Amino acid sequence: MKTQHEKESISIYDNYKIDSEIKNTDEKYYFIFKERELLLINNQVPLIKDFKEINIRKTDIKNCIYIGEYYSKDCFAVELCEDFDKENYIESVKDSTFLELYFVFDIDEETYLVGGRAIQIIDWENNHQYCGRCGAKTFTSDVENAKVCPNCGFTSFTRICPAIITSIIKKDYDDLDQEGKPINKVLMAKHSYHNTHRYTLIAGFLEAGESIEEAVQREVREEVGIEVEDIEYFGSQSWPFPNSLMIGCICKYKSGEIKVDENEILKAKWFKKEDIPKPPSEISIFSRLIKNFKENY
Ligand SMILES: [Zn+2]
Repeated sequence: MKTQHEKESISIYDNYKIDSEIKNTDEKYYFIFKERELLLINNQVPLIKDFKEINIRKTDIKNCIYIGEYYSKDCFAVELCEDFDKENYIESVKDSTFLELYFVFDIDEETYLVGGRAIQIIDWENNHQYCGRCGAKTFTSDVENAKVCPNCGFTSFTRICPAIITSIIKKDYDDLDQEGKPINKVLMAKHSYHNTHRYTLIAGFLEAGESIEEAVQREVREEVGIEVEDIEYFGSQSWPFPNSLMIGCICKYKSGEIKVDENEILKAKWFKKEDIPKPPSEISIFSRLIKNFKENY
């Protein structure tokens, strides 16, 4: 089993090269998606010479885009057509499955990371077919990852939406431990959009024009009505649902009482370490922030 430390050290670039030229390797890796679900065969991404080997026809493929080199092989992001019959495929191809990336993480983190890039490239291909400025059909640049308009020259790159997630830590002077020291607590909230209504950390997208620190202060103020200080960067994580970058932060409680709108946020409260509910998966930076709180505060 991997330790958390080893897990944190995994990089998308361990075995993947983003800017290599296509080599026409005999076998190729294909990250194949039907909608947003990734095809795995024997829990792996297919490494094949021909689509026939895995029972996929040329007419099943809507997009096939070179995305770089993976384990020294050419690597492609593939989107299957809307009418591709997933259920029938799973029945006919042994040990095949289509999985949401969220669940791929628990099988193999590296597949999740490169798969997260692959699905974002497919989204970008689909969402930038026409120039956002003049409406002409765009083409893909040969020199960089960009869509270029032949009419007005407008260039668009893959779009990533940064979001912050923060643990807010408070020394609770109204709740002392056996030695008379204030107990460290972390603020967690229940968001109405989480269908499971779990307690989680405060998070939200950055607004145009603000810094990470300003986004943390604004989101915290908007969601739970308190002020925070000493905002520190903790780490980041690509979050391809659909195209975010999660920026993890740690900050300290400064002032104010918890106040929630009961619309976006249903409830919020300060948790002692032992009362924090177990995260449902190790996938997110959320679970790393919680682990950090438990170990270091
Ligand atoms: Zn244009």
